[in-house]
Amino acid sequence: MVWFSYHGGHSGEFCDHASSSLQQVVQAAIDEGFTHYGLSEHCPRYREQDLYPGEERLGIEGLIRAFEGYVIRAFALREEYARHIELLVGFETEKLPPENWLEAMLSLKSAHPFDYVVGSVHDINGRWVDYSPQETSRLAEDLGGTEALQLAYFRSVTDMVEQLRPDIVAHLDLVRKFEPPGFSFSDRVAKEIERLLDAIQAYGGVIDVNCAAFRNGYGPVYPLPQILSRARQMGIPATFGDDSHGVDTVGVGLEQSRQAICAAGYSQISYLTRDHGWQSADIAEVRPRRSV
Ligand SMILES: [Zn+2]
Ligand SMILES: [Zn+2]
Repeated sequence: MVWFSYHGGHSGEFCDHASSSLQQVVQAAIDEGFTHYGLSEHCPRYREQDLYPGEERLGIEGLIRAFEGYVIRAFALREEYARHIELLVGFETEKLPPENWLEAMLSLKSAHPFDYVVGSVHDINGRWVDYSPQETSRLAEDLGGTEALQLAYFRSVTDMVEQLRPDIVAHLDLVRKFEPPGFSFSDRVAKEIERLLDAIQAYGGVIDVNCAAFRNGYGPVYPLPQILSRARQMGIPATFGDDSHGVDTVGVGLEQSRQAICAAGYSQISYLTRDHGWQSADIAEVRPRRSV
């Protein structure tokens, strides 16, 4: 029996908007019955204007130091807890700074022997799409409307995927975070999503079925059923992401991700191992040991 998540493991020790120490997060993952758990702290940002709200007091230097601290601690915990859980150490990307994000992400990736990379886009040209409904609607207005915002977002994710080829592509449709219940993408946007899925399929990427949207009251898990079904038809593997930001969110909502994956018609789900790369498990069989 396996139970796993690869996008999450943020901790208050190294992330300003998370809580708990990294060790507490790892302990919570063990308590929740995870057999494999990925730690993917946010990468540092390299320009003042790219700091997340609240990080101003840390500044660029503080973020870089925090990330280096995360790396040391995460690799140490991976060894320390190896008998109890297989930890995988990675990081979550940004497409920032807009002009040389690829260089920044590749140099971060090569600086340490990470197990994997989670490819995420949270912005369009340095403006957040997921911070607040007000900011997102201002951004949409500036770009020419909601559809234009969505097209720009999916094009940007496609570009990230083609250039960076991350092991896991995170919260594919984050851009619909603040859309009302029952929302679905227009045909025009669906075509852009199709291009994104083609790009993921082309290099063998795996998509993150991320329960943060559901847990935080922003509709179903990412991505919406229409996207997940299409990904399944195209043979793109899916995995779990709890997007945990402290002990209170470790594993919380993953049952929704599991149901979404089943509903999309997947019979197998992929999980990453340190020794044997991607493996797959029967979707009906994965769940925490304790709840069996
Ligand atoms: Zn975060
Ligand atoms: Zn993210």
